[in-house]
Amino acid sequence: MKPINNEQRLVATAEITWARREDMVYQGLVTSIPWMALVNICFALMVYFRNTLFDQIDTQYRVASNLARMMDISMLAICLLSFSMIAVAWRKLRLLSGLFFLLSLLWAVSCFYFIVHWRLPFSWPLITILMLTALSALYFYPRGLLAYLLPLWVTLPLASYFRNQGININFVMVWVIFTLILICGYFVLRRWFDEAWRRNQQNKILIARLDALAHQDALTGTANRRALENLLSQASGQNKPYALMMLDVDYFKRYNDRYGHQAGDECLTCVAQVLKNAVRSPEDMVARYGGEEFAIVLFEATDNACEEVARRIQQALIQAAIPHQDSSVSECVTVSIGIAGKGAAQNAHNMLVKADEALYRAKENGRNGWSR
Ligand code: GH3
Ligand code: MG
Ligand code: MG
Repeated sequence: MKPINNEQRLVATAEITWARREDMVYQGLVTSIPWMALVNICFALMVYFRNTLFDQIDTQYRVASNLARMMDISMLAICLLSFSMIAVAWRKLRLLSGLFFLLSLLWAVSCFYFIVHWRLPFSWPLITILMLTALSALYFYPRGLLAYLLPLWVTLPLASYFRNQGININFVMVWVIFTLILICGYFVLRRWFDEAWRRNQQNKILIARLDALAHQDALTGTANRRALENLLSQASGQNKPYALMMLDVDYFKRYNDRYGHQAGDECLTCVAQVLKNAVRSPEDMVARYGGEEFAIVLFEATDNACEEVARRIQQALIQAAIPHQDSSVSECVTVSIGIAGKGAAQNAHNMLVKADEALYRAKENGRNGWSR
């Protein structure tokens, strides 16, 4: 039996919400890390090809020195780390903060030399952009953000100190302002994430409510036909043995004609309650199949157990004693029951057909009884 389209839509909607906050953080990382890696790789390549890209570099640093070679190796390592960052993000988060720290450390050491020794013109903006990139990619993951920011953040004043041979008050001011920008930016962005998480929670509650409504019969409060069909196809798919009972209220048209539609509704609600009381909850399911027909799914129930349930239902209906003066089989409301025992048929459709055929036989045999 194919799942209904609406059902698929509902499942798809349920999948866009996250069960735990960590799942949402993980999703955020998987989305933003490729971009962060791209920025790192682009900058590393820019430094790697600095001699071609920047005219102002002193000729002495154009000459291949050991230090220059080490810088090139660092840049290649940064590219490699950035790629592995993408790979790790898809698998495990645990390693990620360590990778961020390593990446930032490589940048920090390199930038220190760029600023203090090589005086590369793009070094300050490079660090600033790297830090802002990390902020916008990791604001929802404080541990990783801190791991990335810390080495670069410390490098800024250190490099300034060594380059200026002392504390430069102008630099200190710029550094403090930049730090403030980072901190405020973090809290503002963090609020967006919290808001998104709150919406996620609300959506989850809403989806759960809609899901319950979509699978519940409005009149009787039992499961509806959709829920029944889902359960049956699920159980058949998992080879989980179950027995199926189809129940039909006897002479219900006459009941409506005599007592009115309103009373008919109340009668159906009352019958549904009797059925719910007769089965184990929550393992078994009572569903309204349509009109005055109900279905009961009994897991792991033998034929004897099914008959026992049928007997219980009949007795409970006798006790409920809902008057039905126009019934030809009793003075009260009764039901006919068709039982398809477990293992009688494998797939959901066959089980429904079997139970329906048995119900037909129960009607043929004079109603107010059961048949297998
Ligand atoms: P049988 O003993 O052979 O089952 O006869 P029956 O009268 O019970 O069956 P039939 O199919 O002829 O009539 C079913 C009736 O159930 C007709 C329909 O108006 C009534 N019915 C279906 N759904 C509802 C409902 O939601 N509320 C009420 N009050 N009546 C309903
Ligand atoms: Mg019927
Ligand atoms: Mg009927």
